[in-house]
Amino acid sequence: MTVFEMIINGDIPSTKIYEDDICLAILDIAPRSKGHTLVISKKVYPTLAEAPSETVSHMMDIVKKVDRKMREELGADGTNVIINNSPASGQEVPHLHIHVIPRFKDDGISFFPPSMKYEEGEAAEYGRKLAL
Ligand code: AMP
Repeated sequence: MTVFEMIINGDIPSTKIYEDDICLAILDIAPRSKGHTLVISKKVYPTLAEAPSETVSHMMDIVKKVDRKMREELGADGTNVIINNSPASGQEVPHLHIHVIPRFKDDGISFFPPSMKYEEGEAAEYGRKLAL
């Protein structure tokens, strides 16, 4: 059982800010910025790939509401909206959740590593591989 299932079942406490039949939103216990929120699916999907698009779409609607609230109530200038998708990306809890992290101008937080450079022709090659 994932830690989020235990929260959903009421077995461990959380600071809940929203709940419906499809998802809930709680404060992350280890905030990267105060107010850091997790929008969590009620059903367990280990990664984004397993989740129905309707569920993801609904969760994104809630993310938008959380984003708006962070701007209105915390004075956030922006948010980072992040899904860690599989352990290689840093996902610790195998249960779909979207991080919404309030950001403030010049807060000094950075989630992106330094940028890389493509070798000659490499961008075209990656473009071909990833073309949908
Ligand atoms: P991820 O690395 O994307 O799987 O993120 C998992 C997140 O869950 C981390 O940011 C943790 O701080 C958070 N977390 C773990 N346990 C709890 C808990 N009991 N209540 C709230 N957040 C939690």
